Amino acid sequence: MKIDNIDIAKKPMLIAGPCSAENEEQVMAVAKALAGKAAFFRAGLWKPRTRPGCFEGVGKEGLLWMQRVRNELSQPVATEVATAEHVELALSAGIDLLWVGARTTANPFAVQEIADALRGCDVPVFVKNPVNPDLELWIGALERLNNAGVTRLGAIHRGFSSYGEKYFRNAPQWQLPLELRRRLPQLPLVCDPSHISGKRELIMSLSQQAMDLNFDGLMIETHCNPVCALSDSRQQVTPDELSVILDRIVHRSVSADNGEFQSYRNQIDEIDEALMGLIAKRMEVSREIGELKRDKGFTVFQPSRYDETMKRCEAYCERARLDAEAMKDIFEAIHSESIRQQLRILNDDKR
Ligand code: PEP
Ligand code: MN
Repeated sequence: MKIDNIDIAKKPMLIAGPCSAENEEQVMAVAKALAGKAAFFRAGLWKPRTRPGCFEGVGKEGLLWMQRVRNELSQPVATEVATAEHVELALSAGIDLLWVGARTTANPFAVQEIADALRGCDVPVFVKNPVNPDLELWIGALERLNNAGVTRLGAIHRGFSSYGEKYFRNAPQWQLPLELRRRLPQLPLVCDPSHISGKRELIMSLSQQAMDLNFDGLMIETHCNPVCALSDSRQQVTPDELSVILDRIVHRSVSADNGEFQSYRNQIDEIDEALMGLIAKRMEVSREIGELKRDKGFTVFQPSRYDETMKRCEAYCERARLDAEAMKDIFEAIHSESIRQQLRILNDDKR
């Protein structure tokens, strides 16, 4: 992919503004309160709502208000586009940055339509992750835009949806944006803690985590009167609250390549080797049991045995003050690898 830089005055790149443009006064009030702080002022004009009957955005009328922000406050502006028509309208209004929303990224037909409408245009486009945790779909959307000639691309991590009661509105699943960063290191990566959290109280800690994970920027929904916002009212902060969040964020340096770290890193490398040795030994023993299970005609998966292993893991975690959830993930991975090895013994036997 050919990716060009986006000029931003300072890092972290801040994209702030209301979830939705509601009326001219609201847009101007938020934009004035944010002037000088944000690299881009955001406001959604066409709102993708889950259920019909909710506020679905003011549409193209809002473009005039965005132009006022741009011209009167010298503030670059950004909005979401979901169709070719949105792209055409936004471009002719001089919107400085477009973003593709999470629901749209999940639909390659829609992304292709947007890419076709952008052919030959020199506008930066940021792509939110799809609602489902599918990295290929996210990269696929970036590729469609890139193939149409959009080179000033960026990605926005806004979390992934799931069913049922949950702490976050959209689970962060940080491993996905981090893998995106590994695959496309030159792509600017912005975190949207508003849509991840769904509640303003969590925006500070998520923003700090994003900075600690070396994200390039933040998209934070900001409204002068969040409780009265027509969309996403629980997750918006006031401009003053945004200032407090930005002031409190601790910026740590990226590179830890100096000597101080070396002795610790050597220790970690040794521990990792020992761990791998132990895992290899564990797999060897589990293959031997696998052969025994095969010879005696037992199933590979023994639920009671699995429960015992997990209970022992929990008890150990309590004694050693380890995070039980995290250790459970590790043990589940080890256990499922054991099972895979034992299944292979049965399959090899059939061949
Ligand atoms: C938004 O940014 O207001 C929005 C609709 O976000 P998402 O596409 O992440 O749901
Ligand atoms: Mn929103």
